[in-house]
Parts: sequence; C-alpha cells; structure tokens
Amino acid sequence: MKVDISSIREIRGGSISFEGSIEIDTFGLELDVELNQPVAAKGSVTNTGDGFLVQGQVDYSYQTHCDRCLEQVLGSTKIEVTEQFASYTAIEADESAYLVQGDIIDLSDCVREQVFLSLPMKITCKTDCRGLCPQCGQNLNDQGCHCHNESFNPQFLKLKSLLNQEGGGSDGKPNK
Ligand SMILES: [Zn+2]
Ligand SMILES: [Zn+2]
Repeated sequence: MKVDISSIREIRGGSISFEGSIEIDTFGLELDVELNQPVAAKGSVTNTGDGFLVQGQVDYSYQTHCDRCLEQVLGSTKIEVTEQFASYTAIEADESAYLVQGDIIDLSDCVREQVFLSLPMKITCKTDCRGLCPQCGQNLNDQGCHCHNESFNPQFLKLKSLLNQEGGGSDGKPNK
C-alpha cells in the first residue's frame, strides 16, 4: 500500500490523506487466527520537516477458535498507527526507521507489523465460557452433562490434563 507524497514533499506542515487496503498473510505465524482480507487502512501523512508522520487507523476482522470450547469466534479490531518515516536524505536516520522511497511511502510493512502485534493470542467466545466437558466433550455452554457426579476415572483425569495443555499431547491417541 503506497502513498505518493510528491505534493507535500517540499511543504512543511503539508498533509495528505490516504485510504486503501492491504493483503496480510498470516501463514507461518503459527497462530490460530485467520484475517479476513483485505485489511483496510486510512489516515494522513504530514510533512514534519524532519520526515513524514503517518497517522492512521487500521480495521480488520478475523476468525479464530475459542480457547475453551473450540467454537469459532469472529472478531474485529481497530488499531491506531502512528509512525514516523524518515526522508531518505536524513543523515542520522535510525536504521530501524521506515524510509521514504523517492516520493513514495510504502505502508505495507508498517501496517503488517502493527496488525501482527495486535492479533489476539488467546480468546474466549465469552468471558464466562464454560468450555468442554473433559470427560464426554459436551459443550457445556449448550447444556450440562452428567459426568461430574460419576466416580472419577484416572484415564479421564489424564485426558483432562492433556486437553488443558496448550497444544500438547495431540497425537490423537489416549495414553494407556
Ligand atoms: Zn467458548
Ligand atoms: Zn461430560
């Protein structure tokens, strides 16, 4: 996503607005989050004299699964992005700073980074999600089950601890 700043390059205090969208690939992040594409971004670029200040808003929606009951969860996030782009002529430009390339500011990396930082790590479908029964797998939000009063079985406790381990014990075979 590129913004042409030629019209404000020589005007300190000058500002232009932008609006666009960007495709963000979450493949390889190893997160159970899928972004609905494309991600929308809008805002303004201001010539501050030392560089260009990007101030904008990024909106995205995503789908993931509840950490407790595994139901699909849809969510959306709105983030504010403020980033200074250094003019390529700036001698003391911070190496990590984003640079203006000619008359173009490419917002893609900056937006992508901010979106990644804001992705939900663990999410529940509702704050009081009751999760799944570790014994019979019943989604306890839908209805209760009758497991709790039965005499406990060590196998089930083992399964329960496996289910509670994040990402662990997933070879699909219950331990004997
Ligand atoms: Zn849930
Ligand atoms: Zn049960």
